[in-house]
Amino acid sequence: MADQYSPPSHAGAIVIGGGVMGCSTLYHLAKLGIRDAVLLERNKLTSGTTWHSAAQVRALRSSRNLTRLIQYSIGLYAELEQETGQATGWINKGSLSIATNPDRLVHVRRQEALAHSFGVRAEFLSAEEAGEIWPLMRCDDLLGAVWSPDDGRVNPSDLCAALAKGARARGARTIEDTPVTGIQVSGGRVVGVETAGGAIRCDAVALCTGLWSRAGAAMAGVAAPVWPCEHFYLLTKPVPGAEHHLPSLSDHDGHLYIRDESQGLLVGCFEPQGKPLDPASLGEDFAFQLLPEDWDHFEPMMLNALHRLPVLETAEVRMLLNGPESFTSDGSFLLGESAETRGFFLGCGMNSVGVATGGGAGMALAHCMVDGHTPYDLHEADPKRFHPAETAVEALAARAPEVLGKHYEIAYPGRQMSSARGLRQTPLHDRWAGQQARFGQVYAWERPLYFGCEQEPKGTFGRPDWFAQVGREVTQAHEAAAVFDLSTFGKILVEGPDAEAFLDRVCANDMTRAPGRAIYTAMLNERGGFESDLTALRLEAERYRLSVGTSAVARDLAWLRRHLREGERVTFSDETEALAILALMGPEALEIALALGGAALHDLGYFRHGPAELGGVPVRAVRLSYVGEAGWELTCRASDAEALYAALAGAGARPAGLYAQTAMRIEKRFLSMGHDLDGDVSPIEAGLAFAVHWERDFIGRDALVKRRQAGPKLRMATIILDDPGAVPLGHEPVYLEGEVIGQTTSAAFGYRIGRPIALGYLEAEAAREGQAVTVDIGRALFPARVTMEPAYDPSGARMRPLKSTEGD
Ligand SMILES: Cc1cc2nc3c(=O)[nH]c(=O)nc-3n(C[C@H](O)[C@H](O)[C@H](O)COP(=O)(O)OP(=O)(O)OC[C@H]3O[C@@H](n4cnc5c(N)ncnc54)[C@H](O)[C@@H]3O)c2cc1C
Repeated sequence: MADQYSPPSHAGAIVIGGGVMGCSTLYHLAKLGIRDAVLLERNKLTSGTTWHSAAQVRALRSSRNLTRLIQYSIGLYAELEQETGQATGWINKGSLSIATNPDRLVHVRRQEALAHSFGVRAEFLSAEEAGEIWPLMRCDDLLGAVWSPDDGRVNPSDLCAALAKGARARGARTIEDTPVTGIQVSGGRVVGVETAGGAIRCDAVALCTGLWSRAGAAMAGVAAPVWPCEHFYLLTKPVPGAEHHLPSLSDHDGHLYIRDESQGLLVGCFEPQGKPLDPASLGEDFAFQLLPEDWDHFEPMMLNALHRLPVLETAEVRMLLNGPESFTSDGSFLLGESAETRGFFLGCGMNSVGVATGGGAGMALAHCMVDGHTPYDLHEADPKRFHPAETAVEALAARAPEVLGKHYEIAYPGRQMSSARGLRQTPLHDRWAGQQARFGQVYAWERPLYFGCEQEPKGTFGRPDWFAQVGREVTQAHEAAAVFDLSTFGKILVEGPDAEAFLDRVCANDMTRAPGRAIYTAMLNERGGFESDLTALRLEAERYRLSVGTSAVARDLAWLRRHLREGERVTFSDETEALAILALMGPEALEIALALGGAALHDLGYFRHGPAELGGVPVRAVRLSYVGEAGWELTCRASDAEALYAALAGAGARPAGLYAQTAMRIEKRFLSMGHDLDGDVSPIEAGLAFAVHWERDFIGRDALVKRRQAGPKLRMATIILDDPGAVPLGHEPVYLEGEVIGQTTSAAFGYRIGRPIALGYLEAEAAREGQAVTVDIGRALFPARVTMEPAYDPSGARMRPLKSTEGD
């Protein structure tokens, strides 16, 4: 080993990988007081992807907290030189995103609106104004542009040098030429890493190995869906007009990003279909290396570049740089503890925004390792959001190039990936396919979004092709009876003599209710924020079945296991695939149940469950509704799902998809984890304090009591728009007297009330009945009215049984 340092025998924390993610994580660990943290790099710092990055830093992301990470990076990159004496090459020249077609214009204007609600400066410019900022650009086909003055760029190698220097000044160590060859795991926990120079004991490991992370994670028994693609930019020799630094320019319709470099131009691309790359093909000694130029692949983008920048006609090309970069199955990175192995943290799969995000992401990862949680909710980056099926090589190699291509595509609502589909199917998949279901993929499952889809829907920010069809499905549930396939919901069986005491501690509601009860509850973190919201069926004194969100299974199981105390007699099993759930909803549901021999369901009270037989199929029925119509969620063995559906359909029920369900739940103000609820929000702001059992001690109670005493700053509100033609999608800023007072979280057309509806958090003073507000949809302001109740059937009369036996 050609290393001047020898690895220690023990470290407070180990960071594997010396790119921007590893250096930033080490720096922040040291800043948080972990002075014996060690970074192990198999070659030299930055030698993987970081050294050849275009290193643009643009703040605006799809969510507030992802944006906050980059805002943090910007502050750090601007200040680090002062602290360390090492320059980072930070240049704040802003960025410009141009629009050359009407849909892109809507897209960039929505981005501009989003920026306003996230506190990012952004301004719309005419074609002429954009041309003044970027004189080399052809402007005659521009419809407008958005200017973000706070963006910039950095020198990636200098940035890493500064971060490493700052870390070392606080006692941390960086050890180069030292590959990690194994991860030691004992009892489901990380206990150390192996290197050629010996093993190092430690309690926490951060895997920041970029495109090598799938293999790195596997050493710890962890599935990480990370796969590289080739990524290209052209470099020219000096051209007139690029003598001084220019803002970063994005021509998304041309698949291009452009900036100056050494008085020439750097023209990079996110082409519609990327080129995947097997990481094993790079070899063990791939360091400070590039991939071969591929002019055939780059040609369409070259033509776009020549169109946008006429000066390129005469510019001399220095090189077509081709470097590998890692992508994940859904285009967002991995940050946080793994589901499989305690103490093993992932900070990888940066999807081409690693330099922009790295400062903030390293900070958040270090906090996660030291405090047990990120400083704010980052569920979009939670490594536990994937199913292992998504990590298979074939799925990743098919998906990664599509993810690269989607980077600059217009993000139409409901957009679906076309690669790596069909990984998980519900027992009724073929039947739904036969009814022309349009499927959407969640946690590798295929879920019917709506039915009767004869062709791929056209991307639009206006009223979608499926609007009328979803309306028919809502009407079916509202006026007759519909079946929603909820089989993808996670089903976790919690059993054992201590199950009641355990769940009563981990959940915020009263979990001691008798068998036969369904309990809506939350699992909260110590800060009182939502980790999960779920419905528990108490099956027997020592058995509960938790029904959790489709993509929440791994995350919730990890949370439950983490909170099990030594000696507590509780076991967990994942029953998701063994069971199917069909929700029969609508005014004719009772008639159908009776016709199929389900007399037992008649007297089942609200939030009660019991066994029954429908059409000869044994089911467990629970009387509740996520859509606001009367009915039951019917759980049966997966192998019986086909027979159960055939019986329900034979008696008159018709299928309805996820879009109908979402529209109906928003009308009913039923909140959804990941949209309306997350780790920063508590039941107090969400208006869900009715599901909190204050008399008992549970995780998060102290924080919740404090939040209740202080009173919420924000409150969940229902916002009903006046214009039936408005199409809110969620994330829109909400204004009162010219000031942003909140933001929508989810939105849909409310077919039962004939108006678009959004849910969202508003400043508490504005969150009051009848308050007039305006909703900014792509910079057009739509008048709306606030209500603190569900938009539809606020008393809930429609979803309760006619003869209810419900008790307390
Ligand atoms: C052409 C191009 C342009 C880009 N432009 C931008 C941009 O404008 N803005 C932006 O934000 N991002 C950009 N990116 C993306 C950005 O560069 C990456 O997201 C980022 O550099 C990834 O950093 P990382 O630390 O995750 O990975 P890397 O830099 O690859 O670091 C991982 C390190 O882990 C080491 N390693 C691997 N296995 C082991 C092991 N077993 N033991 C020890 N060490 C190991 C490797 O040697 C490597 O040094 C661009 C990328 C490319 C390719």
